[in-house]
Amino acid sequence: MLMVKLLARMPDLRQRVQTEHVPDESGHCRDCREAQWPCELYQIAVNAERLDTRGLRLSA
Ligand SMILES: [Zn+2]
Repeated sequence: MLMVKLLARMPDLRQRVQTEHVPDESGHCRDCREAQWPCELYQIAVNAERLDTRGLRLSA
């Protein structure tokens, strides 16, 4: 959750995660390699984006 909040405030880093953590031909994350996609980091970035577009703007 902390990681999500952190990424919600860092759109640049979030975008980089979403750019690099993409599935390869076998359905694994290109950056994590071993992990099935969507990997943990990618999901955190997606959740952070959701938080950014909803939550943080309201409380800012
Ligand atoms: Zn990954």
